[in-house]
Amino acid sequence: MKRRSLILAAVAAPLAARLERARAQPRTMKDIEALQKNWKSLLAPGTPVPDPSQKLELTKEEWRKRLSPAAFHVLREEGTERPFTSPLNDEKRPGVFVCAGCDLPLFTSAMKYDSGTGWPSFFTAIPGVFGTKKDYYLIYPRTEYHCIRCGGHHGHVFDDGPPPTRLRYCNNGVALRFVPLKP
Ligand SMILES: [Zn+2]
Repeated sequence: MKRRSLILAAVAAPLAARLERARAQPRTMKDIEALQKNWKSLLAPGTPVPDPSQKLELTKEEWRKRLSPAAFHVLREEGTERPFTSPLNDEKRPGVFVCAGCDLPLFTSAMKYDSGTGWPSFFTAIPGVFGTKKDYYLIYPRTEYHCIRCGGHHGHVFDDGPPPTRLRYCNNGVALRFVPLKP
């Protein structure tokens, strides 16, 4: 009896966790639209939300003063942080990821998934917050994306993400700041 309940517990606990994760995963594009529409439900009360059209334009020197050297390299020089270096890889609390350059909300915790790449990864984003361009830095074309408000480089978007979007926003952690829903 004791042995049986032990086995049951060993099987049931991971299964429950898996079911919980499966429930949380969006399945249809309608689910994705709901995540995009309701992103403010994950915003901590009192968090300022800058207007994306109110551009933040600074000189290189002003950016250098405002940002850490690592954030400056990624955001203003299109650098890439080393994988598995960002504490945001393991960030699983509810909340919102904002641009480290200008505080514009970019993603919510409900849009994040573990891609195993070593960079914070998201299958969708808050609408209207990114501009994109193709870059050929690694010979094959990749779609670079940057913050629409401050122009800061964040990462690249690939088409090997989970369904239903199949997108993988591969974001440098140092370009983001996490605002937990509950402090
Ligand atoms: Zn920004």
